[in-house]
Amino acid sequence: MGSVEKSKENLGKCLCMKCPSYTFTCKIKSMPSNAMDMMKKDISKVDHMEALFCAFGKSKCITDEKGCMCRGCEIYKENNLSNSYYCLGGK
Ligand code: SF4
Ligand code: SF4
Repeated sequence: MGSVEKSKENLGKCLCMKCPSYTFTCKIKSMPSNAMDMMKKDISKVDHMEALFCAFGKSKCITDEKGCMCRGCEIYKENNLSNSYYCLGGK
């Protein structure tokens, strides 16, 4: 498995935001850093983000396994990933 690219294109394909493990509280907390800032920045230089966990590593907010959507994600297939719960286990 190679490393997943931190790109806006990949962020757009990531299913984490639609996942049951990504709680409503986490979405609210990550809103300012994700939605607005990220669209302006070059995200390849960003250290942490609350999405695209297979590229950015563990979440600072998600704590429970409530289902994982990674296996249905395009990034998962494109990068031959084999794990799930990247938000909890890291990349
Ligand atoms: S890594 Fe899996 S469990 Fe975690 S938020 Fe993304 S889809 Fe959901
Ligand atoms: S494989 Fe999982 S963590 Fe990676 S982009 Fe897809 S949904 Fe997000």
